[in-house]
Amino acid sequence: MSETLEALYQSAGIDADVFEFCGDVLETLSDRFEKIDRTAEYNQIKVIDAFHRARVSEACFSGTTGYGYNDLGRDKLEEVYAAAFHAEAALVRPLIACGTHALAIALSGNLRPGDELLSISGKPYDTLEEVIGIRPARGSLAEYGVTYRQVELKADGHFDHEAIKSAISSKTRMVAIQRSKGYESRRTLSVSEIGEAIQTVKSVNPDIICMVDNCYGEFVERIEPTDVGADLAVGSLIKNPGGGLAPSGGYICGKKEHVDNAAYRMTCPGLGSEIGPSLGLNTSFFEGFFLAPTVTASALKAAIFAACLYEKLGFAVIPGGNESRHDIIQAVTLGSKEGILAFCRGIQKGAPVDSFVTPEPWDMPGYDDPVIMAAGAFVEGSSIELSADGPIRPPYNVYFQGGLTWPSAKYGIMMSLQSMKDEGLINLR
Ligand SMILES: *Cc1c(COP(=O)(O)O)cnc(C)c1O
Repeated sequence: MSETLEALYQSAGIDADVFEFCGDVLETLSDRFEKIDRTAEYNQIKVIDAFHRARVSEACFSGTTGYGYNDLGRDKLEEVYAAAFHAEAALVRPLIACGTHALAIALSGNLRPGDELLSISGKPYDTLEEVIGIRPARGSLAEYGVTYRQVELKADGHFDHEAIKSAISSKTRMVAIQRSKGYESRRTLSVSEIGEAIQTVKSVNPDIICMVDNCYGEFVERIEPTDVGADLAVGSLIKNPGGGLAPSGGYICGKKEHVDNAAYRMTCPGLGSEIGPSLGLNTSFFEGFFLAPTVTASALKAAIFAACLYEKLGFAVIPGGNESRHDIIQAVTLGSKEGILAFCRGIQKGAPVDSFVTPEPWDMPGYDDPVIMAAGAFVEGSSIELSADGPIRPPYNVYFQGGLTWPSAKYGIMMSLQSMKDEGLINLR
């Protein structure tokens, strides 16, 4: 006879009271999970339809080396991305090293000296500050004579349409919008409100290229920024669209002219997307994209489950347990160093890989305070796999995201609670 689920959880380190507390919270979530499953179904059909349109075949799985001329799989994969994003073209490559790299080539490929880049969602993601030259850096856009301005979001976290209109000048060539909050404590922007902001920009000058940093947002909703007028949507393959299988890479989808311009920066002028071998990665890219809608759904469920658990325990959470979701990141304000350590150590203990190691805070390059990171992932640094990190400083926020399957993500979160309990940091009654 098999063990009961509760007994199995106990032998895997989860106490009966933690099991029960989590079960009670989960019971309140069935309607929301049902909605997430419907969105996943919608996006799954969208992706399969894209596979059909591109006529994906077994021949697509063999890759190229060297220059990578005539890489059938690579070209079909880009057709699949373009079809799923309802875009004219896509660039999806292992040669794109990360999300920042994808954003950097989308920007530098489309901006020329004298142009201005305008961010309309406030401060961009940390790593883009050096790409743009907000923080001086070698090779930044600023060094090439591209100027930068930004319009803050309003205090309520929405776009400031009036300020956007007045910030646009004859120099404005590109507008950047960041969908996810990243590691800020602002709201994440919905795709439809991004569409409204793009309309505002285009009403002043339809030639301005609107680029959306789509990191962490893919497949959370039924539409993507390219469905609401974005000229470019850009992201990382070790987040949502890689489905946990892509071992590296980034993508850029949008108008053909602008995607081509980015390709001329990815490789070089004249060669563009014609070269670049897929190095045997086509299968992981196709299969990862195929799995991405349900993987993203697991990550979303995990974020909501954790938000509701920690909210019930009295911690502040962003977004709130009942708020609508537009990305997969969850922040929990744990209020103490001990809280962050216990939380991250619990997540680590629940991971499939490296469950036996104890994460410690360390002085990461580029950060002022020590940072602790928990990740037991198949792909290094992957944040579509359950992972958590936080700088050791007030208000002691931990940010976490991911979960390749819902049961594994649920277990990881239960382990975080168990770890908090073992340290005497929470009271389950
Ligand atoms: C992850 C992320 C990026 C890019 O980060 P990489 O670590 O370079 O992949 C950019 N913007 C946002 C909002 C992100 O979440």
